[in-house]
Amino acid sequence: MSDHDRDQLARKLDQALAERDQALRELSQLRQQIVAAGTSGDRHEQHEQPLTAEYPLLGTNNQRSDELFRVMVESVVDYAIFMLDANGRIVTWNKGAERIKGYQDAEILGKPYALFFSPEDVQAGKPQRLLAQARQFGRVEDLGWRVRKDGTRFWADAVITALIDAQGNLTGYAKVTRDLTEFEHLEREKIEALQQADILKDQFISILSHELRTPINSITGFGSILDDEVVGPLTEKQHEYLRKILSGADTLLGLVNDLLDLSRIQAGRFHLSPQPFDFALVAADALSSLQALAEPKHMHLLNEVPQGLPPLVGDAQRIRQVLLNLVNNAIKFTPDEGTIRVRACLDGAVLRCEVQDTGIGIATEDIPKLFKPFSQVDMSSTRPAGGTGLGLMISKSLVEAHGGQIGVESQPGAGSTFWFTLPLQHGVPLPTAPL
Ligand code: ADP
Repeated sequence: MSDHDRDQLARKLDQALAERDQALRELSQLRQQIVAAGTSGDRHEQHEQPLTAEYPLLGTNNQRSDELFRVMVESVVDYAIFMLDANGRIVTWNKGAERIKGYQDAEILGKPYALFFSPEDVQAGKPQRLLAQARQFGRVEDLGWRVRKDGTRFWADAVITALIDAQGNLTGYAKVTRDLTEFEHLEREKIEALQQADILKDQFISILSHELRTPINSITGFGSILDDEVVGPLTEKQHEYLRKILSGADTLLGLVNDLLDLSRIQAGRFHLSPQPFDFALVAADALSSLQALAEPKHMHLLNEVPQGLPPLVGDAQRIRQVLLNLVNNAIKFTPDEGTIRVRACLDGAVLRCEVQDTGIGIATEDIPKLFKPFSQVDMSSTRPAGGTGLGLMISKSLVEAHGGQIGVESQPGAGSTFWFTLPLQHGVPLPTAPL
């Protein structure tokens, strides 16, 4: 279930609980009104005549209001409302309880309320635990499976309230249960529809990305042949335009690859090919391929990763992708002539890598958004730096798939330091080198 579906279900359950509480409040107000009516009846006997006539067996006004309350509770069909004695045995039963749980009052009165729990819950002591909590805190609320007379289970929301007499002795419990099965079904259908839409979206992205890659490869392949003048000489202007075409195709390929990665991550189909690798070599390779981006901005791209780090085990291509993303961002978000340092050290059981820049920095309130899909601090269409807002989210997934962590420390105007860790394998010696 996705976070969104879970949130939605949680919201619906909250709503159902609020409705249930509201119904209980109304029931309680009604009871007070009946009790009040009973008391005032002492003074205005006239008003009580019809009630006494309707319920001839009733005696005092208190008895009468209690009886009214009982009749009212008994006729509620949406909720199972019943009382337990101090030992958890059923002493009253209403229409709702009969409808929801399937027992007639004659067959259930006097039986322990644990009958409504699954054998696993009974074995785990849940019925007694709920009563003990109600005793301790006055009331307890529980959302869980219950069992009907015919053995079928239903999803229920129950409140147990301890009943205490004037001397402070426990006299029993009031229990109100609501069957949420129908609501559960509706929610499940909705969630299944959402999941289906999600699967279709993933398939769409995946097919589209594959289909886009072939024409992009044609553009870059044939463009490079032309640029290398394999089929004939080009003018300077033609070279310039061709490089713009190639750069556009590269950006497009990056976007398509990011979308493919996103769909694989979201579908849980992300595979790593772990092998031992030398982190310093991977870092050197990633930095040299970004040198061409840093040069036009006269930036200092400093590789401070020490040699001789113990080998890591992981997917070197994917770790290179993380470094490319972090350094690429550092170049994008640092003004001309800035400095970018890439460092690494051993920190206990992990290797820690830092990419530090002297760029625009990030406000503290924006930091939590960064590692989520499609999030960019400057979301305006006029933002100077391009990009999809997927890079950091993909980097986070890649680092976490290796058992590491990723984060950032930043100060607006002063620069940012993005860091990530990768766990070292057991048995590898861990000399500690300061950054
Ligand atoms: P993209 O770079 O494609 O927009 P990312 O997920 O890599 O997507 O980055 C998300 C956002 O995080 C960027 O758009 C930018 O707002 C912010 N960001 C990332 N790295 C830096 C950095 N080094 N300095 C300042 N802001 C950054």
